[in-house]
This record gives sequence, C-alpha cells and structure tokens, in this order.
Amino acid sequence: MRCPYCGCENTQVKDSRPSEDNSAIRRRRSCSDCGGRFTTFERIQLRELTVHKRSGRRVPFDRDKLVRSVQVAMRKRPVEPERLERMVSGIVRQLENAGESEVSASTIGNMVMDGLKALDDVAYVRFASVYKDFREARDFEELLGELSNSEEINPEDAIQSARSRNTSETS
Ligand SMILES: [Zn+2]
Repeated sequence: MRCPYCGCENTQVKDSRPSEDNSAIRRRRSCSDCGGRFTTFERIQLRELTVHKRSGRRVPFDRDKLVRSVQVAMRKRPVEPERLERMVSGIVRQLENAGESEVSASTIGNMVMDGLKALDDVAYVRFASVYKDFREARDFEELLGELSNSEEINPEDAIQSARSRNTSETS
C-alpha cells in the first residue's frame, strides 16, 4: 500500500483487527520512509454483482451509492451513522449469501425499506417515497398506516418532504 504522505511503497501493517460489526478489517499502517501513519479498511467487494434497474439498465452494485441514498433519507434524523453502516453491511451480506450474479433494484429497495422500518420511521417514509415514486397523497396514507408509530409523523410533513425529494435520484 502506497504511503499517502510521501508516495513511497514501503509501508508496514502495525495492527489489524475486525471492525465493530465484523464486516471489515481495519489496518493501522505506517510508512518506513517518512513515518506517516494511516488506516485502511478491507471490505468484501461485490464486484460481480449487477443491479438490474427498472429502466432495464444494468449497473455494477455500488455500496457507496447505496449508503448515499440511505443517508439522504436519514438526513437530520437522530440515528447514529454506525447503525446505518451496520444496516447497509447487513444488506450486502444478504446479497452475498444469496449468491446471485444479478439482483433487481427493487429487491435492494425492499431490503433498505425493511432495514429503515426498524431504524427510523421518518427515514423509512422518505426513502419509500423516492423509491416507490409515489404521486398520490393516498399512497402515503396507506404507507403511514403500515407504520406502528405512525402517530409520531405528521402526514402533511411527510408528503411535503417527500414531494421535495421526488426529484432526487431513485435507484
Ligand atoms: Zn511515507
């Protein structure tokens, strides 16, 4: 691994341990040349997994992109980033275990919705509104009816915030 400070390739691993949720290996490295220290994460990469989108397009699975789309739904919600990371890692693990080379975007979307339902109702409604591409207010009411703690959400707010998000990316 090349040193990010001096560019020399003579770096050594000082410490290596699993991350909190065991989905990655965290390595502390140091450069023999300049003494700089840095950390790397080793993760399973689903390079072979292709996502089949509703548009018919096929794109390689991108964990970072999945994290970003969930982060949009989580914006300003009181959920620790670690829990989001764990949720995404759980989805990635399930996809891995399924062993398929291709997965539909809607399968991933449903997994995210299941995960968000357990984490945060508001984030769930936001994600669902973008993902399901709702146009009718009554769709939201049905969705809100599915939620156990729906009384904590003002449907008007949810619809408003979802409408303003409907222009953002759906994947
Ligand atoms: Zn260096």
